[in-house]
Amino acid sequence: MSDKMLKKLKILADAAKYDASCASGTAGKRQANKGDKGIGSLTGGTGICHSFTPDGRCISLLKILMTNYCIYDCHYCINRISSNVKRARFTVQEVVDLTLNFYKRNYIEGLFLSSGIINTPDYTMESMVKIAKSLRLDHGFKGYIHLKTIPNAAPELQEEAGLYADRLSINVELPTQKSLNKFAPEKDLSEITGAMTKLKNKITEHKTSKTYTGRRLPRFAPGGQSTQMIIGADGANDKTILKSSVNLYQTQKLRRVYYSAFSPIPDSSPVLPLKPAPLIREHRLYQADWLLRFYGFKVDEILQGTKDDMLNMDHDPKMSWALKNRHMFPIDINKADKLLLLRVPGLGARTVHKILSIRRYANIAWEDLAKMRVPLGKIKPFITTSDYNPPAYLLDSKDLGQVMKQPNQLELFTTAT
Ligand code: SF4
Repeated sequence: MSDKMLKKLKILADAAKYDASCASGTAGKRQANKGDKGIGSLTGGTGICHSFTPDGRCISLLKILMTNYCIYDCHYCINRISSNVKRARFTVQEVVDLTLNFYKRNYIEGLFLSSGIINTPDYTMESMVKIAKSLRLDHGFKGYIHLKTIPNAAPELQEEAGLYADRLSINVELPTQKSLNKFAPEKDLSEITGAMTKLKNKITEHKTSKTYTGRRLPRFAPGGQSTQMIIGADGANDKTILKSSVNLYQTQKLRRVYYSAFSPIPDSSPVLPLKPAPLIREHRLYQADWLLRFYGFKVDEILQGTKDDMLNMDHDPKMSWALKNRHMFPIDINKADKLLLLRVPGLGARTVHKILSIRRYANIAWEDLAKMRVPLGKIKPFITTSDYNPPAYLLDSKDLGQVMKQPNQLELFTTAT
């Protein structure tokens, strides 16, 4: 790779790291050839991130921006027009070549492509579509493609993008129009959700309809769509954020809402906070999001009794809820229904599934939970089994909340059996 390309790659991969909507971290150290350095060896992992496909596989993606020029001025974004960063831009052909080059060497299994807006939203979206189209049609690229689409680009371009991409995403960025007005004045929440609705309808149409000859329509973004929200740049509390997520899951059928804790960017705008949002807040939001989607919780239950409608940072949201609803515990592992089991701190959805299958033919004892690798210290005050009843003082203890903050709760309760 030429020095010029390497420089561009460094700038455009670095600029893409602020997008949380596909990443779970950079790729590990995978040496291609002994002695290789930099981009070829992947020891630095420039532009490579891990992501999860809709079927749960962890894959490596080339995660880049097409360009970090942008005509918009979103205050929280390092690529905004008023930012004083080094700029770079890939041509369509350069992104295609780079992706194929990495793919053929087995460095990546796909591409995550986003971009600042150059000239017009349509012009930018058209270039991104050209990249995906060329990869698929000219080169038979079978890898994963995730395109970040531009909400106010022409619907025909969004639709074309869905024919070549596995997943599409449109960043909502902030949960309310009021926040967007302040921090991203060119963005309009109704325009963003309108674009999401069009994509949702197209995804459904391609999944369910057939042509007049009875053949299925071509695949359209089979991995669905996702979005990202920045946490802690505006004053939105966790209730506002979670309600906005629930609304997006319900109305737009999003696969994921990604939360990205705001961290001050170089050359940041004076309207932004000076301090980063705590990462634990991002983590708690992901936990709450999971409870909303898979555990039957409602936003108001998760935030029951919390201060200022913010999640409790000391406990995970399920533990926080259980501590406030001690009258519902202990529950009998051998009799409780699925929804109640899902509310027990320390019991994940998979474990609940196992418990339900085992107890069809046998009673579950304490040791069975240990075999299932259930965190016994965490679960101890909240359940009964065929051979175990928690002493009443565990649930009544004023210190229970304090004890449950500890990393190894079991040891603190060893005398309490
Ligand atoms: S439109 Fe996107 S790239 Fe441009 S400034 Fe806003 S967030 Fe940044």
